Amino acid sequence: METLEFQSEARQLLQLMIHSIYSNKDTFLRELVSNASDALDKLRLESFRDKDMVVDTDDLHIVIESDPAERTLTVRDNGIGMTREDVVRLIGTIAKSGTAEFLSKLKEQQSGNASDLIGQFGIGFYSSFMVADKVTLVTRHPHAEKGVRWESTGESTYTIDEVDDAPQGTSVTLHLKPSDDEDQLPDYTEPAKIREIVKRYSDFITWPVRLGGEEINSRKALWARPASEVTDEEYAEFYRHISHDWNAPLETIRMQAEGTFEYQALLFLPSQAPMDLFMRDARRGVQLYVKRVFIMDDCAELMPEYLRFVKGVVDAADLSLNVSREILQQDRQIQLMRRRLVKKVLSSIKALQGNRPDDYAKLWREVGAALKEGLLADPDNRDAILEICSFASTNDPEAPTTLADYVSRMKDGQEHIYFMNGESRVAVENSPHMEALRAKGYEVLILTDGIDEMWPDSVPSFDGKPFQSVAKGQVDLETEEEKSAAAAKAEEFGDLLTWLQGLLEDNVKEVRLSSRLTTSPACVVGDAHDITPTLEKMYKAMGQ
Ligand code: ADP
Ligand code: MG
Repeated sequence: METLEFQSEARQLLQLMIHSIYSNKDTFLRELVSNASDALDKLRLESFRDKDMVVDTDDLHIVIESDPAERTLTVRDNGIGMTREDVVRLIGTIAKSGTAEFLSKLKEQQSGNASDLIGQFGIGFYSSFMVADKVTLVTRHPHAEKGVRWESTGESTYTIDEVDDAPQGTSVTLHLKPSDDEDQLPDYTEPAKIREIVKRYSDFITWPVRLGGEEINSRKALWARPASEVTDEEYAEFYRHISHDWNAPLETIRMQAEGTFEYQALLFLPSQAPMDLFMRDARRGVQLYVKRVFIMDDCAELMPEYLRFVKGVVDAADLSLNVSREILQQDRQIQLMRRRLVKKVLSSIKALQGNRPDDYAKLWREVGAALKEGLLADPDNRDAILEICSFASTNDPEAPTTLADYVSRMKDGQEHIYFMNGESRVAVENSPHMEALRAKGYEVLILTDGIDEMWPDSVPSFDGKPFQSVAKGQVDLETEEEKSAAAAKAEEFGDLLTWLQGLLEDNVKEVRLSSRLTTSPACVVGDAHDITPTLEKMYKAMGQ
C-alpha cells in the first residue's frame, strides 16, 4: 500500500467540500451517478472502436447499495474503470483548466455565495466528502489485470493499493458521516431517500440505475419526449448534468427535423458565462448522440466557436454509431444541420431580445463578447448577429443599445453609425475625438472589448448605414456651407499648416484643419486604415 499526497489545488477543493459551502448536499449522488454514466458511455464507445477488447457490454448498468448498519452507500458501475495511473491523475489532482482561477475567485468572494462558482466548476467526485468522512474507490480498467483501491478521508493524503479480484468497472463507497453530525444530514442509506434523489437529479440517465434489484430511473431522453410533457425542472437538471453549471439555463431551445436526415436537438442558453469562455482551450458545449446513444462531447462540427456557450444535445438518427470527427467534418448533412442549429440559436436570442429584454440583457452581459466574434467568423449570419448585438453608447450610460435603436435615434442628415474604441467608457468620453460629435448631438457607440478592435473593419454597415470610427480619417460632419467656410479657413491658415507640417514631419503624416474639435486646440487622428491605438498596444504586447 502506498500513501500519496493530493496536489495542493485538489487539497484546497477538498477542504471546501469538507466544510461544505454547497447548500444542497444531496447533489453528491448526482455527481457519482453522472460519473458512472460517463464511464458506461466510454466503455461502449471503446468497445466499438477496439474490436479486440474482451469485455461484456450486454448489461451495462449502475447499482446503488446501502448498508444502514455500517452507514455506507455504494455506487457501482461496470463501465470503463480506471488504471492506477488514471486514478492518481484523475482523482488525486485537478487537471481541469481554470482551477487556479476558480480558487482565486473563490477567495475574493469569501463571504458571498460561493455555491454559484462551485457549481460552475463542476466539482464532481470530491463532493462525496460533503457527506462522507471516508471514501473508498475500487476500480479496474478492461486492459488491466489487477484492480486498484483508492481510499481517503479527504485530508491531505490518500492511499493506493492493488486488488486481485476487482470486477471490471468502478465502485465508490461512502462511509457516511455519523448521524449526529453537526450538518444534520438526511439518512442517505434509506432507499426512499436514494430513490427520491435519483428521480430528481438523474432520471434521464440513459443507463439503468438499480436499487434493490429495481430500476429507479425512467431513462427517457428528454429531447425525445413531447415538449409539453417535460417540466422546467427536468430541463434544468439535464442542463446541469451536461454543462456542470449550477444555475438553471436562461433559455431552452428544442428542434426537430424529419425527412431524409432526421435529428432532434435540445439546446440551452446559459444564465452565466461558462468559466472557460475566454480561455484558450474552451470547450464547445454540444454533445452528439446517435439514436439515443452518446457518441461524443464537445462536438465542434455542430456549433461554431463563437457559440461555444451554447450547451446541449443533438441526436441524429442517420449516422453510424462509430462515426468519427473526420467523417463529421466531411458530411454535408452535418454541415446543413449545423447551419440550421446556428440559425435557430440566433433567432432564439432575437426572440429573447423582443420578449424578455431583461434576460436578453443578462445573456448579452455574460456572453456578448464571444457572440461578437461571429461578426468576423460567420459572414453568412452577420446581419442576424448584428441584430442581436448591444453596445454601450453615449445615449444612456446605464443601458446598452441595439443598432436598430441607435438608427432610430439618428439625427437628420446623419449618415453613419459612429463608434469609438477605447479602454474604458471614461477614456472614450474624454477623448478630444468626441467633441465635434457631441456638438452635433450625434450618438457614439463606445466599444471597449478586444474583439471590437477587429470586427468594424470587416462589417461594412448595418441597415445601410456604414460604421465610422470617430478616431479615424476624416469624419464628415459638415454641410455644404460649412465646407466652403472650412476651405476658406484652410487658405487663411495655409502658411501655418505648412510650417507645422515641416516641424512635425517625422511624427505625423499630415497636418490639417479640423472641425471635429470644439474645446481642445488639437488632436492626433489615425488614418482611415490605420490600426487603432488599443490594437497597436495588443500587437506590441504580443511581440509584433
Ligand atoms: P468530471 O466528471 O467533471 O470529469 P469528476 O471529479 O466527477 O469530474 O471526475 C473526475 C474524473 O475521474 C472523471 O473525469 C473520470 O475520468 C474519473 N472517474 C470518476 N468516476 C469514475 C467512474 N465511475 N468510472 C471511471 N472513471 C471515473
Ligand atoms: Mg463528474
